[in-house]
Formats: sequence, C-alpha cells, structure tokens
Amino acid sequence: MEPSGWLQGEYVSDVHSTLYPDLFGLDGLLTGKEREVRERVRAFSDAEVIPIMADCWERGEFPFQLVPKLAALGICGDTTKGYGCAGLSPVGAGLAAMELARGDGSIYTFFGATSGFAINTIANLGSEGQKEKWIPGMARLEKLGAFALTEPEHGSDAVMLETKARREGDEYVIEGEKRWIGNGTVADVIIVWARDENDELGGFLVEQGTPGLTTSEITGKASKRPGIQADITLGGVRVPEKNRLPGAKSFKDTTKALAVVRCGVAWESLGHALAAYEAALAYARERKQFGRPIASFQLVQDKLAKMLADITAMFLLCIQLGRHAEAGKMTDVAASLAKMNNARMARRICLDARDIVGGNGILYEYHVARHWADMEAVYTYEGTDSINSLIVGREITGHSAFS
Ligand SMILES: Cc1cc2nc3c(=O)[nH]c(=O)nc-3n(C[C@H](O)[C@H](O)[C@H](O)COP(=O)(O)OP(=O)(O)OC[C@H]3O[C@@H](n4cnc5c(N)ncnc54)[C@H](O)[C@@H]3O)c2cc1C
Repeated sequence: MEPSGWLQGEYVSDVHSTLYPDLFGLDGLLTGKEREVRERVRAFSDAEVIPIMADCWERGEFPFQLVPKLAALGICGDTTKGYGCAGLSPVGAGLAAMELARGDGSIYTFFGATSGFAINTIANLGSEGQKEKWIPGMARLEKLGAFALTEPEHGSDAVMLETKARREGDEYVIEGEKRWIGNGTVADVIIVWARDENDELGGFLVEQGTPGLTTSEITGKASKRPGIQADITLGGVRVPEKNRLPGAKSFKDTTKALAVVRCGVAWESLGHALAAYEAALAYARERKQFGRPIASFQLVQDKLAKMLADITAMFLLCIQLGRHAEAGKMTDVAASLAKMNNARMARRICLDARDIVGGNGILYEYHVARHWADMEAVYTYEGTDSINSLIVGREITGHSAFS
C-alpha cells in the first residue's frame, strides 16, 4: 500500500475531525489566543515539517532552512515576557510544543533548547545585562542556546556533576565534560553547570568559539536522528565573572528550570501521541485485509479507543498543569508526574500505532516510526521515567529512594 495523501503530509488535521473527535469539548478549555497559536504552529508543521522529515531522518540531518519560518511563528521565548519573547500563556506555549512535536520531535528539541532551556533559564536566573545581551537574539532564533547539565558519568545523578569552575581574578576557569547537549555544536551560548571552588553549583554562560571549548555531534542515533546532541569538552575555558548566572545558587535553582522544561516534555509527548494515533487511524481506515478495512476489526478498534482515552487524559493533565503554572501554583512534583505519565502513555500509543501500520510501520515515509523512536529519547530525558516516578514517590511517602 502506498502512503495516502495524509501520510504524505497533505492532510491538515483538525481536533474537530473524526480523526480526533473532541468528545469532552477540550477545545472549550482554551482561550481564543491559545487556539490561534495552535492553528498557526499546526499549519507550519503540516506544510513545512511533515513533508520533509522522512528524508531528514534517512540522512540524519537537521533542516536548518526551516529556522527563519520557525522564528516567524512568534512563539520563541514561550511564556517569557519582554526582550522580544512571545509571552504566551503556559497552555499556549504547551500547545505550540505539542504541534511542533506532532510535526517532528527534533524540530521541537531544536526549538526547546533555545526557547525552553536557554531563554527561560537566563530570564529567570540571569542578570539584566545577560538578559539584554542574549534573549532578544534568541527570541528571533538568530542566536541559539544550549543547556549543559548532563555529564558522561552523571545523568540521573546530575546533582553529583564534576565540572569545575575555579575563580582566578575576575574570571572563572572551567574544566569538565558534558554529554547529550541539545544544539551543543550550533549554539551561540551554552549554559554550563559547574561547581565553584566552594563546591557551590553555578550556571556559566560560555560562548561558542571560546578557547578550550570543544563540541562534537553525537552520531549513530536511533532516535531524534535529525536532531543535534553534542559531547562537550571544557579544557581550561575562561569566562568573565559577569558570565555567571546570579540567580543560580544551588541545585534547586537548576531543578526549577528543569521543571519548566518537564512541562514542555509532557506536551511534547502529547504531540508524538497525537501524530501516531492519527497516522494509525488514517491507515486503518484505508488498509484492507480479509476483504475489509482493518479499522473494522474489534482488536484494532480496541487499540484506537484506548489511544483516544489516553490522549484525552494527557490533554486534560497538560491543560490543568498550564493553568496551575499561570496561577503560580505549579509544583516541581506536578511537572514530574505529568512528564512521567505522558511519556509513558505516548510511548505505549506509538508502540500500538506502529503495530497497526504493520510492516509499513517501520518505514519513515509512514511517519509513525519517527514518533515511536523519538519517544524512546523522550522517555529518558528531562528525568528518566524512574527518576520522575521517584520524585513523585518521595512526595507521597515522605521517603527519598534516591538521595
Ligand atoms: C536526545 C537527548 C537529548 C538530551 N538533551 C539534553 C540537554 O540538552 N542537556 C542536558 O543536560 N542533558 C540532555 N540529555 C541527557 C538526559 O537528560 C539524560 O540522558 C537523562 O538524565 C538520563 O541520564 P543517563 O542517560 O546518563 O542515564 P542514567 O542516569 O545512567 O540511567 C540509566 C538507567 O538507570 C536508571 N536509574 C538511575 N538511577 C536510578 C535510581 N536511583 N533508581 C532507579 N533507577 C535509576 C534510569 O532510570 C535509567 O533507566 C539528553 C538526552 C537525550 C537522549
């Protein structure tokens, strides 16, 4: 069976369509502005992203030609106000993340490294001078950012990171290694997390090209293939004292930045789940076996019905998380629960969708495989499933199982 028009990226989905019946009137929970942001980003993903991503995956190359159009969407900076940022509501920013991921996960991580990680961290923890220097250019995606926390020997236990920032006069000298850093090779500025001579954690703005900084792209990936993740070596990198983020005083400040990004990943998971569900349903309606569309078989319908139930639950959770964030009531634990729950559900949905699309389900041109493979990375980053589960477990039992 050849991919249908929809699978070629010609179909523009609609929450009111029969592909996604909005049984609970979730659209009514969104403001007009939020719906408009969703439609704008959806149109971009449908027209610009979906048609080219199979090829990008095959070649493992990021489509940089899309960056000006991505910038023109006016969503960069997420909820940050001023400095040329979008100043969206948390739900609006989430819907944008969802629609980018529905297009492709690497488009979302490329965008998220600058918008979610770098801008958000500098806006919340940076000095006025740092904000003015970096945020406006990043909000236009003319400058790119990265967030370097993970190290080769410290992922889940990032709190034990070993990178050092030693004070020498009015400079810091940074030594260490980082791994898996989104946009690490292309970012103009990398926020490097390191311990100072007093063993206190700090965030340091390191500009690309600084002597001693080496970045190399991680290749051979089975997930996020067009995305850019890097290994970074900091060999005596010197940055001025003013490049230290004044608001980052302990690991708690880092986890605040991570909580915001975890919300984005909950929405990202929803985007992957929606894409996989829609592709599986469209395929099931067209593909015939035993003389009938496979959509008419009870076992296929059962899978699709469960996907829809999970997507609806994920959506509700995301919307309420966003409303809590807007009211200043969102907790780190809620962000962990949402990330854990949505990544788990989306991973299962992508697995079932892959199954429904049969052998074609492993081909890039049928799209499900991209989302299925990306959910493996999503399941692991921004706190693995287990780590987020232990954060929730600590909250409900009063016992920490991991520190
Ligand atoms: C595509 C991608 C993009 C990324 N982008 C960034 C980025 O931009 N910046 C950045 O800093 N990092 C980034 N990361 C790193 C990511 O955050 C880490 O991969 C993640 O934190 C897990 O660390 P790890 O890979 O070292 O796995 P490990 O920590 O080694 O975990 C391996 C396994 O052990 C389990 N485990 C560990 N500790 C416990 C425990 N106490 N109890 C139970 N189980 C446990 C984990 O759940 C997991 O199943 C990215 C990763 C990927 C794959």
